[in-house]
Amino acid sequence: MNLGHLVTRSARYWPDRPAVADRHRRVSYRQLEERSNRLANALLGLGLEPGDRVALYSLNRVELVEAEVALYKAGLVKAPLNARLSTEEALHVLEDAQARVLIVGPEHAPGILERRDALPVVEQVVVIGADGDQGFESLLAKGDTALPAVQVDQDAPAVLHYTSGSSGRLKAAVQTFGNRLALVRKSLMLPEGRFAQDEVLGHVGPVTHASGMQIMPTLTTGGCNYLIDRFDIAELFATIQRERITRFFAVPTMLYRLIDSGLAGDYDLSSLRRITYGAAPMAPSRLREAMDVFGPIFTQGYGAGETTSTISILTLEDHLRGLKDKPELLGSCGRPYGESEVIIADDDGNPLPDGEAGEILVRGPDVMQGYWNAPDLTEEVIKDGWYHTGDVARRDEEGFLYIIDRKKDMIISGGFNIYPAEIETVLFRHPAVAECCVVGAPDPEWGEQVIAFVVCRPGETVEEAALVDYCAEHLASFKKPRHVRFIDELPKNPNGKVARRLVRDTLWKDHDRQ
Ligand code: AMP
Repeated sequence: MNLGHLVTRSARYWPDRPAVADRHRRVSYRQLEERSNRLANALLGLGLEPGDRVALYSLNRVELVEAEVALYKAGLVKAPLNARLSTEEALHVLEDAQARVLIVGPEHAPGILERRDALPVVEQVVVIGADGDQGFESLLAKGDTALPAVQVDQDAPAVLHYTSGSSGRLKAAVQTFGNRLALVRKSLMLPEGRFAQDEVLGHVGPVTHASGMQIMPTLTTGGCNYLIDRFDIAELFATIQRERITRFFAVPTMLYRLIDSGLAGDYDLSSLRRITYGAAPMAPSRLREAMDVFGPIFTQGYGAGETTSTISILTLEDHLRGLKDKPELLGSCGRPYGESEVIIADDDGNPLPDGEAGEILVRGPDVMQGYWNAPDLTEEVIKDGWYHTGDVARRDEEGFLYIIDRKKDMIISGGFNIYPAEIETVLFRHPAVAECCVVGAPDPEWGEQVIAFVVCRPGETVEEAALVDYCAEHLASFKKPRHVRFIDELPKNPNGKVARRLVRDTLWKDHDRQ
């Protein structure tokens, strides 16, 4: 089964329903089928062969979905670049992926074309929205509308999912066709993932990352993907109202900003049935606020690029229980589901009993094949088929997972293990705190000391000493931050997650010098 053929089937069931839209265009299933066939044939016509990489570098727009479906149908490998990467970073990724074709959005085209000489491996740059030979439409017109007869091996790479791109060594999880098909199967195994045909899924974050996971499940069930190209709070609410968006996915930082804006009440958001959050931990106190603002319509997903789909889900019903009789559930990332096996293991990979903290290991049909061209990195994380997530968690007797922190983020001060997430959970409860990030900084006496970086809510202030005292009231005293630094914004990686390493390595050093 070629993953792309799922769209061919949907086009027979729902030819005239909208499959994908943005603020400029709306494409029906029939049109998506025809246009993705054309693009697939045109790309193969350029001499590309199954297994060759095609990079996508664009803000969210309809063409990204057309290209994704076309690449599956042609057996080509999608190498999506986060649209927030700079030209220099993008060049780095293109080189690493050895992409033969680059499909680029108009916002990035000038920068890329200026550096054309630095891209010897890219044979063709295709510009979305451009006229003439280089344009996306011109390429598409060269292909015919027949479904390409490409067989794909389920073990063949389908996607290079870059997990970083801004600094350090590049790392791409190789997700196979089988992995991506498992993602679709898995999404449809829970009521949370089953879309009715009248669903409109708003993609707020870049579809090249977490948000894009739901594109194919939506296209399998006849729903519409609505792509939003920037995060503007008022515009997002207006779009939900206008397009009658029924679901969207957001990282916690986005949700914090939506709540703090105070604007939700000005719009008719009654179409919303579900908001999914994930990709990073969400503070339970802020989750409660989010439920006050939007209603109890939340679902959480926990997963990683390396696992293609989500590992566990905290369902809407779990959230309701969290509000009623099991409050700790609001701090859980839910229960594993679908075909994956999940264990909590000690450092030697042996399963631990319920209640004990250990690393989450995952095995199943959606676990990546390995890292692209990096067998050394693959060996570090996949052992006996088990993917080592690096997340430390415990499981309760009902099977709910509670992530304590990332293994690597643990702070060791005076011989005690301190998990930043514990301190952040307390800081988030303080009424003046909008966002925070706790890191360890070197300390000659203690090994490491705890430093908190805090962004205050609009119009709020609080003294450093007051926040330290607040933490001391709720935590063992060795865990309280030695210093609190107030900043306007926390650095984020291109997916909107707090860039903890950057906070630790850059911000702390800068503050240290002041
Ligand atoms: P990435 O591959 O960049 O999406 O990062 C995956 C990592 O993000 C996981 O290993 C977790 O550390 C973190 N993560 C993803 N989802 C959640 C969640 N729902 N709660 C807490 N951490 C999460």
